[in-house]
Amino acid sequence: MSSSPPHRPGTGKLVLCVIDAMAPEMLERAIDAGVAPVLERLVRDGRYIPDCVAAFPSVTPVCAASIVTGVSQDRHEIPGMNWFHREEHRYVEYGSSFRAAQRFGIARQLTDTVYNMNRAHLSSQTPTVFETLDDADVRTAGTTYLMYRGRHRHEPQRDTALTRVASALIRHPVMGPRELFYADIFASRRTGCRSGLGMPGVRDKHSGCVSAYMVEHDLFDFLLLSLPDNDWYSHKRGPDAQVHSIGQADLQLARVMNAAGGIDEFLDEHAVIAMADHSQAPVTDTIALQDELAELGVLGPARTAQDGAAALEPRIAVCPSQRAAMVYALHEAERDAMRASVVALALAIDGVDLVLWLERDAHDAPREAVISSPARGELRFSPGGVGGNIRDPRGISWSIDGALAAIDGSIRGGLLLTPSYPDALARAWAALTCPNSGEVLLSAAPGYEFIDWGRQAHVGGGSHGSLHASDSLGALVLSGVELPEPEPALWAIRDVAPLVLGHFGLG
Ligand SMILES: [Zn+2]
Repeated sequence: MSSSPPHRPGTGKLVLCVIDAMAPEMLERAIDAGVAPVLERLVRDGRYIPDCVAAFPSVTPVCAASIVTGVSQDRHEIPGMNWFHREEHRYVEYGSSFRAAQRFGIARQLTDTVYNMNRAHLSSQTPTVFETLDDADVRTAGTTYLMYRGRHRHEPQRDTALTRVASALIRHPVMGPRELFYADIFASRRTGCRSGLGMPGVRDKHSGCVSAYMVEHDLFDFLLLSLPDNDWYSHKRGPDAQVHSIGQADLQLARVMNAAGGIDEFLDEHAVIAMADHSQAPVTDTIALQDELAELGVLGPARTAQDGAAALEPRIAVCPSQRAAMVYALHEAERDAMRASVVALALAIDGVDLVLWLERDAHDAPREAVISSPARGELRFSPGGVGGNIRDPRGISWSIDGALAAIDGSIRGGLLLTPSYPDALARAWAALTCPNSGEVLLSAAPGYEFIDWGRQAHVGGGSHGSLHASDSLGALVLSGVELPEPEPALWAIRDVAPLVLGHFGLG
């Protein structure tokens, strides 16, 4: 079926393995416990980066888009797990929880996640690694991952349990990598692997199974191997439990490598990038932002005012994304006044760590961003320009004014250091200037999570989404990949796409 590979001597094949939410400390503990021998080998022989910075909000849709495009949401335009679509005047929900999906309608949630995220929401101006590699005739492949956009057309399967149940919904083709295996929905060939409706706990096995098949049959030069179950397990049982789920992910990596004859044989032919999209932190308390802001008139999922506030005309949309949240003003004319009202209320909510917003000039262009901490004051900043007075560790210059304490910052030798909020200014600026973001963004204090629209959270377990280091720093392991010169002083997930393209001479 496939044409012969465009062999480039010396480059080799590349597997990008995304282990969702893999926390560096938990990876290290899994290695120490002897349950992650493949990852141990990659760490030992390769380059291990224990503090690769996620996007903000540090949630999977935003991070996955950054990983595949190499840019932040100011360009790729995926702003959160849940967001308000201004043109369509409706919420977009990518699956915060089953109950949240029910509130918006399962059909709507599936369509947004399976189709619209790649086809309509992800900017057409930011090519994915699949698209760029497809254009160069590199043989691409992907297992079930939120981001799959490529140049090859795939029709949905007709004969699986999921497509039978949801046949009215899942009937359109998608454009993906050359080989695409996406839950029960798309499969570019018969492998005998079962996805079990894409249920948690089974998804890693499906990814491992189809990837082993592809290795055995030499079907790719670049593979995005997604292992999502670690995130699910850690949400449920807390980040400490990742020692077990990282071990399970390692078993699937071993299975893929065994298809080549073993780890040595596999690494002779393949470079590997193993990475987290974000981390997770323990959750002990919740914030019901929908309730806290009820007096402003909150739009509910069913285009009515939220339950219990039915008398109020909706004037804001509230979008929880786990440990981050966004608030949108529904009426353009009162945007600035509504923003001020939301900020005032938000700063007084228990568990809100940071409130962020953008101030605009007379032409509506972003003038400066504000990060405000209820306890530590307010910092104003904007990128570079004439007044650029400091640099961040990634070399970007910023004009700042106000309380550095808001982001626990200090300046040494003209360099802004914010270890509690890694890459704080660039991440906040990208989030605030994303055209699909809300007027006000919130980051939860350690221990807190915003309940979603199904009123679910992960109390007693783990979650992520904030600007804080506790859930923003993931593990990144590079094996057989040429490192950039110079290496970033602070690695970020948006550095990975350029590594992938560079590996195939497309840097
Ligand atoms: Zn998660």
